[in-house]
Amino acid sequence: MTSLPVTLADIEQAARRIEGRILRTPFVPSPSLTELCGVPVGLKLEHHQTTGSFKLRGATNAVLSLTPQQRARGVVAASTGNHGRALAHAAKAEGSVATICMSRLVPDNKVRDIRRLGAIIRIVGRSQDEAQVEADRLAAEEGLVMVPPFDHPAVVAGQGTLGLEIVEAMPDVATVLVPLSGGGLAAGVAAAVKGRLPGARVIGLTMERGAAMKASLDAGQPVLVEEVASLADSLGGGIGLDNTVTFSMCRALLDDVILLSEAEIAAGMRHAYAREREVIEGAGAVGIAALISGRLGRLDGPVAVILSGRNVDMARHLRVINGEDTP
Ligand SMILES: *Cc1c(COP(=O)(O)O)cnc(C)c1O
Repeated sequence: MTSLPVTLADIEQAARRIEGRILRTPFVPSPSLTELCGVPVGLKLEHHQTTGSFKLRGATNAVLSLTPQQRARGVVAASTGNHGRALAHAAKAEGSVATICMSRLVPDNKVRDIRRLGAIIRIVGRSQDEAQVEADRLAAEEGLVMVPPFDHPAVVAGQGTLGLEIVEAMPDVATVLVPLSGGGLAAGVAAAVKGRLPGARVIGLTMERGAAMKASLDAGQPVLVEEVASLADSLGGGIGLDNTVTFSMCRALLDDVILLSEAEIAAGMRHAYAREREVIEGAGAVGIAALISGRLGRLDGPVAVILSGRNVDMARHLRVINGEDTP
């Protein structure tokens, strides 16, 4: 595994670097899922992380990996979602500042949330692609340091620290269920878990609609997919045709990738709320969704499930819970 872009040693170093700056989130047994699956199931409650998702791990490790000169110039990203929130918080916490580029179509509440975390907001163009062009320009012309949401060794190493915490909480874990989009989380967690426990299986979960990593793994190279709205909005977007880190790691380390329907994701959110008393967003629900859908077949236990985030509009969450919102 030493030939992969991020190793267990990189992740252990990231864990030392970000300790005390991120929450070590709880890992709790799930009686309801344990009964359903017939093997012990534990939940990593990473949606309780500061800023509401695991993205703070990667962003914090990336900011701490910069030189003081780079940190003084500031960091930049084009993200309206959990990465934007995380990078805004991480930069501010380390005495730097994040500039987050977004399009004019981004709703006001999202803009306000990220501004409140201390970021400079730059609103440009009418699409995420145009916002990315502006972020690239700020990096090239004004010297800001680009921190991408997943395809970056320091970001992947930061996300991998979640895998170390799972193995420490459940030392005999046999199967880890990981939400999958660009693959930063899955690559890091798989490298950590398999580095410590070579026999463990790591399974990526994503939505049926626009599953870019799944399509790329099937094609043997990064491919473009059409983006479609999903309840798991944090799982949208491509993996980048010039992907350098996460594609090769997911190809080498993931044992399987399972796709879930919108109705199954909604059922996962409802189960989390009704049985575990947890509010999670669609992307955070895919692990539970996979277990209750029965799509995983007979599982090797014990099983660890990552609940990756909770940044969902609460009115929408209520509609999903009430069975009124299944796109
Ligand atoms: C970003 C994100 C994911 C997917 O992570 P990748 O590293 O892009 O695969 C899953 N869940 C939540 C809540 C996220 O914010």
